[in-house]
Amino acid sequence: MITDSHCHLDRLDLSKSDNSLQVALDDAEAKGVSRFLCVCISEENRQAVLDIAATRENVFASVGVHPCDVTDSAVSVEALTQWSQAPKVVALGESGLDYFHSTEHVAQQKQSFINHFQVGQQQKLPVIVHTRNAKDDTLAIMRDHACREASGVLHCFTEDWDMAKAAMDMNFYISISGIVTFKNAEDIREVVRKMPLEYLLVETDSPYLAPIPYRGKPNMPAYVRDVAQFVADLKGLTLEALADITTNNFLRLFNRAQ
Ligand SMILES: [Zn+2]
Ligand SMILES: [Zn+2]
Repeated sequence: MITDSHCHLDRLDLSKSDNSLQVALDDAEAKGVSRFLCVCISEENRQAVLDIAATRENVFASVGVHPCDVTDSAVSVEALTQWSQAPKVVALGESGLDYFHSTEHVAQQKQSFINHFQVGQQQKLPVIVHTRNAKDDTLAIMRDHACREASGVLHCFTEDWDMAKAAMDMNFYISISGIVTFKNAEDIREVVRKMPLEYLLVETDSPYLAPIPYRGKPNMPAYVRDVAQFVADLKGLTLEALADITTNNFLRLFNRAQ
């Protein structure tokens, strides 16, 4: 059984699935993908994410604000605490720092990221971390504010070995997306080959970043099977073994999904 550790089920392109999310999830199930973490990016889509999880046993939810959705004021600790009480919530985020898309609100991005960790520590919830062009600041905030027990994950990992190592030393997991299949992603493949299995997760980040052979098309949660197969080959494992290991890792990190 394969777990998609990061997808945006409220934003999928369902035109090839009878305009039905259930059809898309059934397609995934037919490929052996039977657990999903549907990730929140802002206050605006929070209820949609919670609604999708509420009606499906195998879909879990996060609550939080994506760094690209941070504007003049960071989401407060009080708001995050309240959001985290909803049923099926197993994580906070996605939060983090993204200086590639915007450097206009860096101070607010940092405060938002810190607030996610503060609530994570209080509520014993892991934090889903999005980081782009912000390696040093991301690691610095993780060092100062993350807690070991409820750590989190660097999702859609695109950084180098040094960052992976520093994160794993803080008990953070590394989630690999379809980017690992791209021709120019040798650095990510190198991280996958080197990293210990105990911190490995796989994801689609659907509807974004479809793996080869679907690159350029809308990504679907079913395609996490292709990511898992690719990662299994890099690790010299069967798909079944890789699926079991990454699912067990998922349940250890997001332990409310057990
Ligand atoms: Zn992200
Ligand atoms: Zn995402």
